[in-house]
Amino acid sequence: MSKQVAIIGGGVIGMASAYALVRAGHQVTLIEAQTQPGLETSFANGGQLSYRYVSPLPDAGVPLKAIAWMLQGASAPLQFRPRLSTDQWQWCLNFLAACRRSVNQRNGGHLLRLALYSQAVLQQWREQDGLDGFAWKRNGKLVVYRSQATFATAAGKIAEGDEQRALSVDECLALEPALTDVADKLAGGIFSASDEAADCFLFCQALEQRLQASVRYWRLRDQVTGTHHEGSRIKALTLANGSELEADEFILAAGNGSQAIAAPLGIKLGLYPLKGYSLSLPAANGDGCPQISVTDFDRKTVYARLGGQLRVAAMVDIGAHDNQVDPRRMQALRANCEETFPRAGRYAEAREWAGQRPSTATGTPLLGATPYDNFWLNVGHGSLGFTLACASGQILAELIGGAASPIDLTGLRAG
Ligand SMILES: Cc1cc2nc3c(=O)[nH]c(=O)nc-3n(C[C@H](O)[C@H](O)[C@H](O)COP(=O)(O)OP(=O)(O)OC[C@H]3O[C@@H](n4cnc5c(N)ncnc54)[C@H](O)[C@@H]3O)c2cc1C
Repeated sequence: MSKQVAIIGGGVIGMASAYALVRAGHQVTLIEAQTQPGLETSFANGGQLSYRYVSPLPDAGVPLKAIAWMLQGASAPLQFRPRLSTDQWQWCLNFLAACRRSVNQRNGGHLLRLALYSQAVLQQWREQDGLDGFAWKRNGKLVVYRSQATFATAAGKIAEGDEQRALSVDECLALEPALTDVADKLAGGIFSASDEAADCFLFCQALEQRLQASVRYWRLRDQVTGTHHEGSRIKALTLANGSELEADEFILAAGNGSQAIAAPLGIKLGLYPLKGYSLSLPAANGDGCPQISVTDFDRKTVYARLGGQLRVAAMVDIGAHDNQVDPRRMQALRANCEETFPRAGRYAEAREWAGQRPSTATGTPLLGATPYDNFWLNVGHGSLGFTLACASGQILAELIGGAASPIDLTGLRAG
């Protein structure tokens, strides 16, 4: 039965939800505060569809590393700015509690299940619907390690039957000649041939274009300021323009804006914004610019070739609640990239960007039902929102249509 569904938020998560729902025959009204979809965290992220490399940030050893990073200054992968905020301290305590090997492995397993399903859903949309125009490429991903110890640990985790392969430095160079300039600093790499890359903003735009062609989709430019409920059902959303929007079902996919909408309903999401930075530079011809996606594990920096540009993304700032580019952090990111790939492209023309990952303390998103019968969550995708968007949207569409989730949602539900 076709339902009238209201989606709050038009980032990659809201857009993928809208696409899956319209595809399934539902009517969708999407409310987005910005002029266009995809202008917040989904705008210039790392561009990696990292389906097989989904280990959550909290892990054994991370608290010790974090202390060392705090002493490292502007080039540190992680910076912490303490605030007088119970949200921050609660999130940090939950993060520390998740910094255990067993918890990391368990949550990594949940993320892997969701990520592999996401790859299958995107493939369906590309092949069955001809969805394109977002610089998509299945070019594989190479995670390179600068330290022998981290490489040995990572290589030891590859299980029998995994698609991942451990490579020597020479094999890394044969696969990605752009690494030549940094070869003497590498210990080895791990390659996943089926991982993909694409431009997340262009993906949001491609979905919007398809949706606009459907009579079952309508996008409102407005801010959701609250909800109106009767008993265990949401009746309507309150909008900044003073009107109310009714629907049969409601999906919360407002990224960092989600908490403010859920809290008055008594729903605690436990999200915290983790700020990060990116650079997009015109790629050089020849072999100086990586063709495959590269992750520099020890520097926590990701590189993706998106059409004619190289996207570089890195860093986590805890306690920086804005999208301003911090010049010290950006300078450090530029220096890191120029040292690693000096011939990658025109650094002088690089576009700088900062965004905030809407993150749970465990690194796993919150999908599905809430205590309200017709209010659904699709939030908290942290550093993997683009990778996980298609699965998350499809799962919500199935649940709202009354079907069972296509994958086991253990570890991915709220509460
Ligand atoms: C530096 C960096 C690099 C990253 N690299 C990668 C990567 O390589 N691969 C990957 O998979 N992921 C990556 N990510 C993560 C990914 O970008 C995010 O997980 C994803 O964009 C989150 O999508 P979202 O739709 O939840 O949030 P958003 O994109 O922020 O969308 C939420 C939308 O809701 C709207 N909104 C909020 N409140 C309201 C309201 N009250 N009313 C109406 N509208 C509202 C906002 O305007 C916004 O457009 C990266 C993130 C960063 C910061």
